[in-house]
Amino acid sequence: MADIIRIDLATGAASAAPLTGELAGLGGRGLTSALVAAEVDPACDALGPDNLLVFAAGILAGTSVPNGGRISVGAKSPLTGGIKEANAGGQTARKLANLGARAVAVSGAASELSLIEIDSSGTRVKAAPQLKGLGSYATIEALRAQYGDDATFVCCGPAGEMGAKAAAVITTTPDFLPRTASRGGLGAVMGSKNLKALVINDAGAGRAAVANPAALKAAASGLSEGIRSHPLIGGWEAMGTAMLVNASNAIGSLPTKNFSAGQFDGAEAISGETMLEQQAGRANSQAKHRCMTGCIVNCSQVYTDADGAYVTSGFEYETLGMIGANCGISDLDQVARLDRLCDDLGLDTIETGVALGVAMEGGLLPWGDGAAAHALLAGLTSGDANARLIADGCVATGTSLGVARIPAVKGQGIPAWEPRALKGTGTTYATSPMGADHTCGNIIPGPNMPDYDANVPEGQAQMSQFVQSWFAAVDTLGLCLFASIPALDIPTLPPLLVQAAGAVLGEELSEDYLGALGTKVIMIERDFNRRAGFTAADDRLPAFMTTEPLAPSGNVFDVSEADLDSVFAG
Ligand code: SF4
Repeated sequence: MADIIRIDLATGAASAAPLTGELAGLGGRGLTSALVAAEVDPACDALGPDNLLVFAAGILAGTSVPNGGRISVGAKSPLTGGIKEANAGGQTARKLANLGARAVAVSGAASELSLIEIDSSGTRVKAAPQLKGLGSYATIEALRAQYGDDATFVCCGPAGEMGAKAAAVITTTPDFLPRTASRGGLGAVMGSKNLKALVINDAGAGRAAVANPAALKAAASGLSEGIRSHPLIGGWEAMGTAMLVNASNAIGSLPTKNFSAGQFDGAEAISGETMLEQQAGRANSQAKHRCMTGCIVNCSQVYTDADGAYVTSGFEYETLGMIGANCGISDLDQVARLDRLCDDLGLDTIETGVALGVAMEGGLLPWGDGAAAHALLAGLTSGDANARLIADGCVATGTSLGVARIPAVKGQGIPAWEPRALKGTGTTYATSPMGADHTCGNIIPGPNMPDYDANVPEGQAQMSQFVQSWFAAVDTLGLCLFASIPALDIPTLPPLLVQAAGAVLGEELSEDYLGALGTKVIMIERDFNRRAGFTAADDRLPAFMTTEPLAPSGNVFDVSEADLDSVFAG
């Protein structure tokens, strides 16, 4: 049975105990949300000591199931005021599972900047004044020098330490590059607890416990074969998610200049195709890179400059869309430098891109001026008030600058898929308990869905309900979203996921396990939000999207309020 490690930072006390009852059958998002819903007062200050910060490995963590090692981070969000889960790759989940733990729950707040060590001899809280103010890259370097390469690290950057509401939680890949659990300001929750880092070392530990190894092995083998056979995988591997820039632009769903259009005339310059060609001529770049042990998709990359110097990694579609097209920036190197800066400050690139777009509309910066955006953001660590506005997200930025068009739901910036062009995705952004979130249920038309029309309002509520439940289940398993997409198209794969989860948990799970699991998790989250004061009025897109036609389609978002309210009715 997997453990939960509890740490009270106010006293430094740490303990471990088996997960019991309903919690024993959960992992990842399901586990973070169940713990936060049960133990956090929905009315509490998200940046106060009463919030609980939970790190949870998915059910499949540490097993041979490919891409099964996402780590979920959960708490009450300082950005949305509701429940929040964000997840990332990296080695954290695998190492926790190898140590016999599925969750780390951090309560209280330390009196000085601290870190938590977790290894096979136990859990300890240590003072960490030497890490104060360090960027993510310098923090990882310092921790690696101290703890060596058997450990993996989780940290917040300066943005988290100062409580900025767009602050992310940073994890580390097998080669110690940063990945981010970006959304909802969970890095600020970490900073509010005076917690700079977790150091997790599984040296000397065994492998993650599996109740039925033979059933797990058979399921993992079938899943590997099925995932590799999907036609999208070659594209992910060659170009990563950057391949979506041209595809999204072609269907008019690439947010451009603060969501004023769905196509960007500079899209080609920041596309996956351009990146692939340009990086092929640069030393030390890597077109394929994996963020975790056991990944068979390799959607990440290492991006270098013209001199072959490292700039960034994990440079994704969402960043290209929001910091690129949404800000009118078509210089790929400049977007890469901004991605690097966000990772180093510990900022969510999506929220930052939305906030920068709002700031450009408000006249704080010229459209398309990446150098000015970089200079502004870099001022965060020296106390620049405008940088702090951006770091507090798009609603703070727009409110301060008097901008009427703020593309946010439940206080969180809308990701790089235009809701007016993709009405099912818009329905998800409106109704997800997470606020507008790129991992909660995008519905992108493709050859796999020949009968699906993203432009009509009818039928989107049912699609969104199904897809939101699917991804809530996937996030509870800890499966990477990109490895889960083939399972939506290949009917033999969902039963193998059910088999794998049952093999880990030692249970016979029913055929409808995934749908029921995802719906249960979302209902827990919605109940927390209801107790925090959310109503149906919060399940809406910003008003301008319902009245302002989007070029080039001329679409407005016209899914009815009755349909939006039906998504999770009952
Ligand atoms: S497909 Fe990409 S995000 Fe998923 S595990 Fe692999 S590298 Fe990480």
